[in-house]
Amino acid sequence: MTSHASNKLDGKVAIITGGASGIGEEAARQLTNHGAYVVIADIQDKKGHDLALSIGSHRCTYIHCDVTDEHQVKSLVESTLQSNGHLDILFSNAGIMNNIKQDILEFDIPAFESLFAVNVRGMAACVKHGARAMVAGGIKGSIICTASVAASTGFENWVDYVMSKHAVLGLVRSASKQLGAYGIRVNCVSPGVVATPLVHRVFGVSEEEGERISESSSSLKGALKAKHVADAVVFLASEEAEFINGHNLAVDGGWAGI
Ligand code: NAD
Repeated sequence: MTSHASNKLDGKVAIITGGASGIGEEAARQLTNHGAYVVIADIQDKKGHDLALSIGSHRCTYIHCDVTDEHQVKSLVESTLQSNGHLDILFSNAGIMNNIKQDILEFDIPAFESLFAVNVRGMAACVKHGARAMVAGGIKGSIICTASVAASTGFENWVDYVMSKHAVLGLVRSASKQLGAYGIRVNCVSPGVVATPLVHRVFGVSEEEGERISESSSSLKGALKAKHVADAVVFLASEEAEFINGHNLAVDGGWAGI
């Protein structure tokens, strides 16, 4: 049985997209530690099921959901409502990076389109259906999207990723203006480099090398961990952040200077 760190999120129901790995995985652990019931949504079914089992079926379940397919997103939200009655927290976190160089002179349009299908269209579909459930249920919920330091600065070799994360910021800033009237807050977290499978894959590095990249991109000593990002997500989901809306919370050790 999971021991609760606090009752900050007691009775809350949360969906975490991209919850089977990396930042989403750690957020699933932290949100359940703080008392929430978590639905992990991902396309990595074995990892997602195993994680839900390890957290415990009384606190966590797994649902397959490809965020690029709006029907799957809608049905994820419907299943969550059927099983749990309401939705309080959406951590819209699923995202990818292309592991080809995407500078503007060599820009690969199909690769850009498949990245945007996840990072932008998928993110918008999740916010849309999560928000509709909260509005219909009269829930003063919290929606948190994962942006990036790449939402606030440029990187010459990741033009598609940078564009997609700037778009996430636009989504958060616009949706927060509409949803504030319903008492629903929409914010984002912007991590620096966290040594997750995404970073290992894209940079072709080991876990240790990933941590070194993380350390060298922070003005604080040590590596940025998924736990640091998950702690920020717990904060934004909780009543401690009840008047924070439309905000981009950098969790990057001071790297981007946002
Ligand atoms: P990760 O690869 O460990 O986890 C991402 C998860 O998203 C995976 O489980 C993957 O299966 C899932 N996913 C991918 N496509 C999906 C889809 N179509 N539908 C549903 N799920 C899908 O990577 P991570 O580092 O934990 O990334 C999480 C988020 O954090 C992403 O949005 C990423 O852009 C962002 N981010 C990561 C870093 C970093 O340094 N790791 C920095 C800034 C922002």
